[in-house]
Amino acid sequence: MSKLTATAPCTTHAAMVEKTGEVVPQALLARRVAWLTALARDLAGCLVAARWNPADLDGLAGGVGLDGRVLPSKGWMAVRRLGWGVGPEPGVYICDRVLRCAQEQAARLLRLALHRRRLVEAIVATWPHNPGARTDAEWDALRALLPDGVTAAEIRNRTRQIRAYRDEHEVFPADLTELEEPPNVAAQVVLAAADRQLLTLERTGHRSARLRVRLPLVESPASPRDWAWHVLPVVLPPTVPPEARLCAPTLRVTKGRVRVDLPFQILIGFVPATGHMIGCGFDWGLNGLLTGVVGRLVADGRVISGGRVIGDGRPLLYDASGVSAKLHRLRAEREHLAAKIQRQQRLLAGMTAADPRYAALSAAYQVLGVEHERLCARIRNLNKALAWSAARWAVDQAVAAGTTVIYLEDLATLEARGRRGNANTRLSGQIRGQIVEAIRHLAAKHAIAVVTVPARGTSRYCPRCGDGTSVLKHCPAPDRLTDKGWRWAYCPACGLSCDRDRAAAERIVSRGLLGQNATRTHRSTGVRTIHAIVEGNVARARRTRKPTRAARRARRTRTDLHPDRQHATEPRTAPPQNGPPAPQPTHETTR
Ligand SMILES: [Zn+2]
Repeated sequence: MSKLTATAPCTTHAAMVEKTGEVVPQALLARRVAWLTALARDLAGCLVAARWNPADLDGLAGGVGLDGRVLPSKGWMAVRRLGWGVGPEPGVYICDRVLRCAQEQAARLLRLALHRRRLVEAIVATWPHNPGARTDAEWDALRALLPDGVTAAEIRNRTRQIRAYRDEHEVFPADLTELEEPPNVAAQVVLAAADRQLLTLERTGHRSARLRVRLPLVESPASPRDWAWHVLPVVLPPTVPPEARLCAPTLRVTKGRVRVDLPFQILIGFVPATGHMIGCGFDWGLNGLLTGVVGRLVADGRVISGGRVIGDGRPLLYDASGVSAKLHRLRAEREHLAAKIQRQQRLLAGMTAADPRYAALSAAYQVLGVEHERLCARIRNLNKALAWSAARWAVDQAVAAGTTVIYLEDLATLEARGRRGNANTRLSGQIRGQIVEAIRHLAAKHAIAVVTVPARGTSRYCPRCGDGTSVLKHCPAPDRLTDKGWRWAYCPACGLSCDRDRAAAERIVSRGLLGQNATRTHRSTGVRTIHAIVEGNVARARRTRKPTRAARRARRTRTDLHPDRQHATEPRTAPPQNGPPAPQPTHETTR
C-alpha cells in the first residue's frame, strides 16, 4: 500500500473565540484571517527578496547548511540552518510558529525557483540553431540536461522568455535572477509548518472537522494578548473518504470568505508494472480530444511477448470541440486586450501627469488591466475543468471495461517530433500535460497503472496488418479514399478504413500490452514509461452479446419478439381520421 495526497477546497463561514465563547461572524473572521496571512506574506516576501541572488540560490541548491550538515527537506528548517533570519517590524508581536509558516512559504518559492533555474541553465547551454523548432539531436541534448518530468510546455515558455531577453539585451541571461523579478508571495498562511502552538485539527464526523487556530485580534498585534484561539468548524466535501488522514491546511481569504485548502491522505493499492491482460489505449486525437480503445492480450502459452492483441471494435471518443471553440474565442479576446494595454502603455509613457488627458487614460488603463486579469483567470479555470473532465472520462471508461492499465502517448516524444496540425491540436496541446497528471491521480485511486509509450509512428502505420510496416493513407472521408486529407485512415494493403485517431489508439494499446516487459518505473516520481517499441497487429472482435430477457422468454415460449402489425391483436396507432385512407397491404406476409 502507498499513500496518495489530494487537497480538498473547503470554506468556513463563522468561528468562535475559544476562551470567551464569542461568536465571530464571517466578515470579522475573514478580516482576522487576512491579518494573519498579511503578516506571513510580508515576512515571506522580505525573505525571498533578500535571497534573490545567485550566491544564496547556490547555497540552497548546494543542500548543505552553515553547520556542514545536509539540509532537511522541511523548508523552514532548511532556511534556519542556512542562517537566513527575518523578523517582524519593531513593535509587532508574532509567535515563532507564524515565523515558521512564513519561512516555509519562502522556502517553497525559492525551491521552485531552483527548478526554473535549472531549466534556464539547460536551455541556455543547449541553445538551438532555430529556437522555434529544435532538431531531434537538439532535443536529445536538452533532455539529457533537464530534470525528469519537465513538460514540453515549460520548455517552450522558457525558451520564449530567454529569446525575448536576448533580443532586448543581446546576451543570454547569466542567471534566473536577471531574467525574472523575485516571485510574488501569495497572501496565504501555510500551516503545514505549524504545530500545536498555532493550530490543531481533528475530525468530528463523516463530513466535518474542527480547526483550532490562533488568530490576531488587531492588524498589528503588539503582545500575546492580541492573539486568541479560534474554533473553526469545517465542512468536508464528499470526495474526502471517512478513513482519510487530514493534514494541516493552508488558509487564505478570497472574495470575503475564508478558504481552507485541506490536504488529506488515503491509502491506495500497489499496481504492478507488468502482467496486464486488458488495457485501454488513448490517443491525443485530431478529431476529438481523446480517442480510446480497449485491447485484450491473448497469450500464446506462457510467453506474453508472443501474444496477440484483440480489440473489441468499439472506439471511445471524448469530444471537446464546444469547449475548445470557447477557449479559442477567449484566447483571441485576451490577445486583443493585451494589444490594447500595450498601446495605452506607450501613450501614457509619452505623456506627463499635467496633461489633461492623462487622468482619463490612466483610469481606462487600470480598467483594462483588471479585465485582462479576469480573462486570464477564466481561461485558466476552463482549462482546468476541461482537463479534469477528460481525465475523469478516461478513467471511468477504463474502470467500466475492467482494465488494469491505461496507455498514453509520451508527450515528450510527441512534441519533439513537432506534430502541428490544425488549431484543434494546438489548442489541446496546452492542456495535455494537465490531463496526464489528472489521469495519473484518478487512476491511482482505482489501482490502475498509467504507462506512456513512444508516440513515433502511431498514426502512420496500419494497426491491422504488416506488424507496423504498412503505411496508412490519410484522406478526408471514407468515400474520398483517393483524395489527400488527415481525418480518415485507409490501408491499401489490407483495406482497413477507419477514423485515424482510432487506428492510432489501437497501435498505442498494442505497443503497451506487447511491450509491457520493458516498462520502467522512475525511482523518485513513480512515472512509468515504455521506451522500446514492440509492434504487433490488433485484431478486432466484437464482444458477443447476451440475449436480453425478452429474447430468452420469446425463444422459450416460441413467440415472436417483434410481431408484425397484422398479427398484433390491437393496432398500435389509430387510423387517420381525415385525409386519404391508409394503404392496404397488397399481399399477406408469410412466416
Ligand atoms: Zn493494413
